Parts: sequence; structure tokens; C-alpha cells
Amino acid sequence: MPDQSTDQNTNNNLLANRIILVTGASDGIGRAAAKCYASHGATVILLGRSIEKLESVYDEIVSDGGAAPAIISLDLTTATEENYSELAETIEDEFGQLNGLLLNAGILGERKPLSQYSATVWQQVMQTNLTSPFMMTKALIPLLEQAESASVIFTSSGVGRTGKAYWGAYAASKFGIEGLTQIWADELANISNIRVNAINPGATRTNMRATAYPAENPTQNPTPEDIMKPYLYLMSDSSRSIQGQSIDAGDFTL
Ligand code: NDP
Repeated sequence: MPDQSTDQNTNNNLLANRIILVTGASDGIGRAAAKCYASHGATVILLGRSIEKLESVYDEIVSDGGAAPAIISLDLTTATEENYSELAETIEDEFGQLNGLLLNAGILGERKPLSQYSATVWQQVMQTNLTSPFMMTKALIPLLEQAESASVIFTSSGVGRTGKAYWGAYAASKFGIEGLTQIWADELANISNIRVNAINPGATRTNMRATAYPAENPTQNPTPEDIMKPYLYLMSDSSRSIQGQSIDAGDFTL
């Protein structure tokens, strides 16, 4: 599937002149993706709810020689359509373009049987993991459409493909993400230069994984930095023909 002629891992200008928004850029996989995109020449927009944590990612990117990122503070659990419209306006005013969107932010919710699952937590998880990516993509499509080619990447999970006990709203939200990816891809394929795909990171050494599996030895899982190849591939021109796919990071080779 990947275009073997492009050595994405050694080309530091692979994403030059691209503006890429990463949600959940303050920690875990989103933080690693933002740093990876910046190290390949992109200007990244770091979106999260903690300014302090986003500033530390900003500092790391700048000290590594990357372009100065933008920071946007937004709580995706409570954000409204108006907030997403304002986000689109801010990006248009500040950058005049958007080439990539990584919808990575997510929350775990409760690890409980559905019969005991809190309806309030259910709604928070659905809002953060599924409704927010829908609303944000909807608001940013007009800007992405103006790019010569643009990439939207959703974040799935193994429990979004096979239902598993005690994964509640998280699993349901990721099933939704798989569907959302396919619907956007099918709707945009023939009328725009936007490609829409998903990545299932697989077990990755982050705070979320440690919370979900407290008894696990974290060092048995890859770090976020270890799984960046599909994130880079789907954001780069090598993946221009890839549409509506859900890629397992663990199976990806390039
Ligand atoms: P982390 O918990 O380490 O990081 C999640 C990120 O999302 C943080 O930056 C967090 O911000 C941000 N975030 C959470 N809630 C909100 C909110 N309401 N508003 C704005 N930002 C928010 O998780 P991972 O890095 O592990 O997960 C990233 C994605 O990968 C998620 O979608 C997850 O479901 C998926 N995934 C992860 C796997 C794994 O093994 N790690 C496996 C399969 C899928 P803050 O720093 O403020 O908490």
C-alpha cells in the first residue's frame, strides 16, 4: 500500500509548508505526533485543554528546531458548534490554510459492565471521542477543501472493531469513529482533495493505557514515538490515494 519510493522517515521537509492541527497534543500519542510533524517541516496547531502542558510541547518543538507552533485551548467534552466555527475562523485568520487534521484526543470513561455504566460518563465519552471529531471536521472542511491536498486522520481502537466486555462508551465511540471515517471518506472522495482515514494505534505506552491496564508492565508496549510511521504516512503526499482506510499501527510497514 505505501509508496516505497518516498523515504518519509529521513525526509525532514516531507511536511514543509503544511499547517496541521493535532487534538490532544498535550500528551501521549498526540504529543508525539505533533513533534513528529514539526520535525518534518510542518507548522503544528496544538489543541488541548491544558495550556501549561501544551506550552511544554511548544518548548520542545522549538528547542528541537521546529517552526513555532500555535496553541489553542479547548475542552472537547463541552465545546459547542460555535466554538468549532470560531476555531475555523481563527485558523483561517492566522494561517489562511489547513492541510492536515489529526483527531486524536480521547477519554477512556469507565471500565464497567453496561448495566452499571453511568449515563453521564457515557455522554461525556461520546461527546469527546465521537461528536467532537464530527463537529470539528464539519467546521474545518471548508478550509481543508482549499488545500491542494488535505488529510484527516481519525483515531480508532481495537475495541471499536470487536465489542469487548467492560469497554462501554469508549468502545461504542470507537465503533462510531470507524463509521464516521467511512462516511466522510465516501462523501468527500469524488468532490474534494481531502482524504479521510483512521489509525488504530494498538497498545501504546501512555497514561490512558496505564489507566485501562493498571497491572500491566508498561515497558512491554511501544512508546508513542515508536508508532509514528502511519501517522506520518497518512499526513504526507505518499498517501494521496488512500481513502476510507482504518490502519493498524502495529501492522504498518514502510
Ligand atoms: P492520553 O490519555 O495519553 O492522551 C489523551 C490526550 O487527549 C491528551 O492530550 C488529553 O489532554 C487530550 N484530551 C482528553 N480529553 C480532552 C478534552 N476534553 N479536551 C481536549 N483534549 C482532551 O491518551 P493516548 O495518547 O493513549 O490516546 C490518544 C488516542 O489514541 C485516543 O483517541 C485513544 O482512544 C487512542 N488509543 C490509544 C491506545 C493506547 O494504547 N494508548 C490504544 C487505542 C487507541 P490532557 O493532557 O489535558 O489530559
